[in-house]
Amino acid sequence: MTGNFDINSKLPGTKTSIFSVMSKMANDHGAINLSQGFPNFETDQKLKDLVFQAMKDGYNQYPPDSGVQTLREEIVKKIKTLYNKKYDANSEITITSGATEALYCAITAFVQKGDEVIVLKPAYDTYEPTVKLNGGIPVQIQLKGENYRVDWDEVKSAITSKTKMIIINTPHNPTGTVLSEKDMLQLQEILKNTNIILLSDEVYEHLIFDSEKHQSASKFTDLSEKSVVCASFGKTFHNTGWKTGYCVAPKNLMKEIRKIHQLTVFSVNHPMQRAYAEYLQTPAHYLDLSNFYQTKRDLFLNFIKDSKFTFTPSKGTYYQLLNFSRITDENDVHFAEKLVKKHGLASIPVSVFNINEKDNSQLRFCFAKTDDTLEKAAEILCKL
Ligand code: PMP
Ligand code: GLN
Repeated sequence: MTGNFDINSKLPGTKTSIFSVMSKMANDHGAINLSQGFPNFETDQKLKDLVFQAMKDGYNQYPPDSGVQTLREEIVKKIKTLYNKKYDANSEITITSGATEALYCAITAFVQKGDEVIVLKPAYDTYEPTVKLNGGIPVQIQLKGENYRVDWDEVKSAITSKTKMIIINTPHNPTGTVLSEKDMLQLQEILKNTNIILLSDEVYEHLIFDSEKHQSASKFTDLSEKSVVCASFGKTFHNTGWKTGYCVAPKNLMKEIRKIHQLTVFSVNHPMQRAYAEYLQTPAHYLDLSNFYQTKRDLFLNFIKDSKFTFTPSKGTYYQLLNFSRITDENDVHFAEKLVKKHGLASIPVSVFNINEKDNSQLRFCFAKTDDTLEKAAEILCKL
């Protein structure tokens, strides 16, 4: 077999993820890496000790496919306290291999050939390929203006008899904007009396700044009845490499999601789940996160205040967009490449997430980094 035969690719337009591309470029050039979203500091030693303890206690074989019971129960408590919604630990929560798997399972469970899925752009890079893989049709709607607001009238008029799902993400990657209570109420109104499923990507729920409140889909009674909410422990507890997250949804939806979960990974790493279950018993472990990251955001923005970049401070996530139109008129992909190769700093060009890769002269910088790294990165930015 030479491998020299025709392959009819199921995803012909899908390229290597920009996160892999930019992180590799950063490594190859010894650059500071503010591109892919991960912390360059350690996860809490207490949490690592809990994982090690779980291993020593013999939790090294398959856990239940939907996840460790005590962890699902802790998630129920957290959601009840924060968003006043009571999910059933047995039938409405599944632990997944990161939020990535949760998103994949939710889309695959419901989207069929010819179904339309509304996606707000710029959008995280897994949504649309997964929709297409299932024969669905992404319907793109551009977020508006400097602050990337949702035009709900446009969303409403994009709905057809084929609309199966709408995907939202708050706090939003890559823009660092958040949906307000008013946004969520408008969405709830639009989806009233429809069979449209809301897929709500809330991986940055605990990274929200300037006294904004996270507006989870699970907070809104009508909305929560048709919502799948996805979350990521990797983002919350500084351990993206452990690839553990979860999704919550009403029982009838979760039943279908679990069928796909069973076929993709069946179950998720066991010792980490035991550790998270115990770690979640101290709410400060996630409630203190907003302050921690807001301090980093402010430090980074203060370091670059005299640079030529312009910006609106991020309201959530650990990303900050910077506009470079006062520096150059080259496109963002070229500028990002030059920044790595010539100046030793990696970022993410935002056009890759936009409709028709529209370039607004913006780069995304991840500020989940040590203060020292942020200072060094800022020195480079200030010289441009
Ligand atoms: N959604 C968004 C918006 C993200 O930024 C990420 C990256 N963390 C994911 C989903 C995937 O999360 P995970 O790393 O838990 O798979
Ligand atoms: N979510 C991370 C980001 O936006 C990357 C995740 C990944 O590399 N797949 O940078």
